[in-house]
Amino acid sequence: MNGVVTKVYGRYYTVTHDGGGCNCVLMGRLRLGRENDRFSEAAAVGDLVEFAINDDGETGAIISVRERRNAFSRKDKGRTGEDLIAANLDQVVVVQSFARPRLNLRFVDRVLVRGVKERVPVCLCVNKSDLAVEGHGEYVRDYYRDTGIPVHLVSALTGDGVEDLRPQLSGRLSLFIGSSGVGKSTLLNRLYPQLALRTSEISASTGKGRHTTTNVAMVTLPDGARVIDTPGLREFGLMDIEPRELEGYFEDFRRHRQRCRFTPCTHDHEPDCRVKKMVEAGKIHEERYISYLNILRSLQEYHDTRYA
Ligand code: GDP
Ligand code: ZN
Repeated sequence: MNGVVTKVYGRYYTVTHDGGGCNCVLMGRLRLGRENDRFSEAAAVGDLVEFAINDDGETGAIISVRERRNAFSRKDKGRTGEDLIAANLDQVVVVQSFARPRLNLRFVDRVLVRGVKERVPVCLCVNKSDLAVEGHGEYVRDYYRDTGIPVHLVSALTGDGVEDLRPQLSGRLSLFIGSSGVGKSTLLNRLYPQLALRTSEISASTGKGRHTTTNVAMVTLPDGARVIDTPGLREFGLMDIEPRELEGYFEDFRRHRQRCRFTPCTHDHEPDCRVKKMVEAGKIHEERYISYLNILRSLQEYHDTRYA
């Protein structure tokens, strides 16, 4: 039988199919035969799978995983495989807040690099617009103006801008990413009250949200929106990316790079670099360029120590 993985909890997978849901484990060979696979997990939420139901009609085993349209993963320093988070996505929605916790576009840029690399469209949603200082919203729009990513500025508290997000989600499979405390649960609950997600009050002492579970689940909503929530995903290693590969994932640099003197150009120390000229001329957002250099440095450091 065929179905889609809608929940992963430890070693167990819920596979949803025409006749309902089935609690599955992985077939032995799927657990073992993955030496050539870049991922640490054999299956993830969003995977289309072939499975067999046991006689009890409720439990079963996943036999094979169909080829993925895309896969969203993260790789951390010192780990061998990549952590597969979800597969076959229509988009990743990164949720941030203007304050409490403060806006972190560096994090968004890292998710964006991952998205461009894996060919998963990324959409940015900045929540708590009621707490934004004058001009902050325009700053965010300006920062991403040539990247092609949709930017939604919303307040889950007042409802401002929230309805504009709905058509972005309906009929699509979206992975939500955001540090705890940005208001992801409040936002999803406002859009889809039937979700009734638990919202966490920010702990006054640290300003950081409470740490939550790492199990992943997909929820299907009446308008055909399918949402995968990932509580507490805040680190985003990009260690599988070669330093010179990075600039190719910055869409806003792309139309200028042909005019750099050197190919490839890291737009860092090279002379006659068109990208650097565009930054000086204000045609590429300076902070976005600094964010690029910041990721570039971290990748260079990592690769230097690895191949030293
Ligand atoms: P999550 O960890 O991202 O799911 O965040 P929650 O939805 O639990 O929200 C964290 C805190 O932010 C709660 O105290 C919410 O009441 C608050 N919050 C959520 N959305 C907004 C908003 O638009 N404006 C303001 N001022 N606070 C918000
Ligand atoms: Zn250059």
